[in-house]
Amino acid sequence: QDAAAFIKSQVRTIPDWPMAGVQFRDITPLLQRPKTLRVLIDLFIERYVEAKLDYVAGLDARGFIIAPIVAYELNIGFIPIRKIGKLPYKTVSESYALEYGTATVEIHEDACGAGDRVVILDDLIATGGTMMAGKKLLERLGAVVVEGAAIIDLPDLGGSKLLRENGLPLFTVTEFG
Ligand code: 5GP
Repeated sequence: QDAAAFIKSQVRTIPDWPMAGVQFRDITPLLQRPKTLRVLIDLFIERYVEAKLDYVAGLDARGFIIAPIVAYELNIGFIPIRKIGKLPYKTVSESYALEYGTATVEIHEDACGAGDRVVILDDLIATGGTMMAGKKLLERLGAVVVEGAAIIDLPDLGGSKLLRENGLPLFTVTEFG
């Protein structure tokens, strides 16, 4: 069994959470055991060890679990991209549409410098709105967004296609249709 198939097999699906009709893909079993955590993190390390990155950016909140481990192992820095109102210093913000209403994410204005090479990491890509907002924030700071990365893609929701069409290469470990 290859690493990606192993990771997929360890994702837990919760029906009707957080609302009826949603099949929530729960990554906590991947974190719970050292074997799955190591296999998962090593997939990202192998992908980026030669990528000459300056930072790994993580998306609030589950991207915050994975991205700092990857940054530590690559010996580079971690940048948090947070939901509105959480970052204490001067911020740049981006809003995007949700199914109902909008969401806003923020980054510290000095989080990185012009030309810095950054990968954005999250647990899952659904509509792609969160990842797209993260890309825009980093680009407003002058960063080069090398790639977006996630454990899980939900291709039926169209986010990964949209992101690629908007010039963001993607790396995802597995997908659920
Ligand atoms: P998008 O912006 O692509 O529509 O949604 C992706 C964001 O929603 C990610 O930050 C992700 O954490 C969260 N998300 C949406 N659905 C799921 C799910 O089924 N499982 C997990 N783990 N996260 C989800």
